[in-house]
Amino acid sequence: MITAYSETLHKGYGQTFDVEEVLFEQQTDSWHLIIFRNPVYGTVMALDGIIQTTQRDEFVYHEMLTHVPLIAHGNAKRVLIIGGGDGGILREVCRHATVEHVTQVEIDQAVIDMCKAHLPDHSAGAFDDPRVNIVIADGVEYVNKEMDDKFDVIISDCTDPVGPGEVLFSSRFYEGCKRLLNEGGVFVAQNGVPFLQQDEVITTRRRLSPYFSDQSFYTAAVPTYIGGVMTLAWGSDNTALRKLGLDELNQRYEKSGIITRYYNPQMHIGCFGLPQYLLTALEEV
Ligand code: SAM
Repeated sequence: MITAYSETLHKGYGQTFDVEEVLFEQQTDSWHLIIFRNPVYGTVMALDGIIQTTQRDEFVYHEMLTHVPLIAHGNAKRVLIIGGGDGGILREVCRHATVEHVTQVEIDQAVIDMCKAHLPDHSAGAFDDPRVNIVIADGVEYVNKEMDDKFDVIISDCTDPVGPGEVLFSSRFYEGCKRLLNEGGVFVAQNGVPFLQQDEVITTRRRLSPYFSDQSFYTAAVPTYIGGVMTLAWGSDNTALRKLGLDELNQRYEKSGIITRYYNPQMHIGCFGLPQYLLTALEEV
């Protein structure tokens, strides 16, 4: 019986969680999946030694990866989620009354099933929302299929660029996403913690910027994504979407009627400010 779980994402540095109880552990087709209880963060899920989400701090990441693009877009009706098997992004997307349809493409049904069972508050019933269509497939194959479906916002809530998640940081994936976006659409993606994974941000700039005239990043401070703020990648063809003023954002936020715990219009504006070391590194790309 394990009594502690150490994250192995970074060589030579990491975080360790006391394990009060292992709720689920399995080697699936894609990876080693474990869900356990920790006295500080509640229920924690990890895939292949990398912390994916925790009960206590998940709202930070799920609110910022969802509400920044949807409120910036202003009238998103069709949303595509890649990954996101824990259901946190889906829960937040479904809180937008303007959204009429959500397709979620997740590679591993086991992640959905186990998170429904052991992290029910993440999806909070969103998987049963009549607007939602769940597809079990590899996200890169899905976005490169011939289909008429188009979307207003695409959210890539993927694992880190190792194993099955690696393809979701490829040019082929970004090209497919661009093709599926409607005019005025927005693409956002999880892009790691720049203080420790700066090369991943630089790679995204190189691979994503050929498809969008406005390719940038924004940040969120997620406690269990260690090493400082997390960067979230942004792609759109309308720079104005990233530069909405506080009054406009306040109006849209109030009109949405969504009660949040991290996202708010001030955070929306502030999150596009990037640390100088990252700006300097991006200028060299
Ligand atoms: N919030 C986490 C983070 O920032 O690292 C990500 C959480 S979510 C659990 C990551 C999801 O991506 C998992 O459910 C995993 O199954 C899914 N995933 C990984 N590679 C994928 C792929 N190629 N296609 C679709 N889903 C994928």
